[in-house]
Amino acid sequence: MPSGVYVRTEEHKRHISESLKGENNGMYGKSGEKHPMYGKHWSEEHNRKISESKKGIPMPEESIQKMRDSWLDCYRAPTDIKDRCHRVYVNALKDGIITRPSICELCHSCGRIIGHHEDYNKPIDVLWLCDSCHKKVHHGSF
Ligand SMILES: [Zn+2]
Ligand SMILES: [Zn+2]
Repeated sequence: MPSGVYVRTEEHKRHISESLKGENNGMYGKSGEKHPMYGKHWSEEHNRKISESKKGIPMPEESIQKMRDSWLDCYRAPTDIKDRCHRVYVNALKDGIITRPSICELCHSCGRIIGHHEDYNKPIDVLWLCDSCHKKVHHGSF
C-alpha cells in the first residue's frame, strides 16, 4: 500500500468501528458485564458469611487468607505497628483462627507459650516459643 494514498473512506471507518464494537461487545459484554458485579456481590456476601461462620473451626486456607487481609485493613489505622499487630493476633486467637500450642516450636518443652512475631506486618504468622526460647530469640542467641 503506497504511503499517503491510504484514505479512510466513510465505509472503511464504519467497517473498523463496527468490527471493533463487535469484538469488544462480544468479548466483554458477556463476561465483563456480569463479572465485576458478580465479583463484588460475591465478596460482600462472602465476607458476611465468613464472619457468621467464624466459629466453624476447620476453615479453608482461602477464607483464612481473606480474614487476614480484612484484619489488616481494619487495623491499618495510624497506631503503633506492634500494638496493631498484637490486637490482630489476640483477635485471631480468640476466634480460633490460630491456636496456641502447648509446646515450644524450638525446644519442644511445655509451659507458657508465647506467640513471637518475626514480622509485625504478619500478625498471625507467629512462632510459638517457651519463655526461654523467646528470650533467646529476642537476644539473638539463635
Ligand atoms: Zn523453647
Ligand atoms: Zn517475641
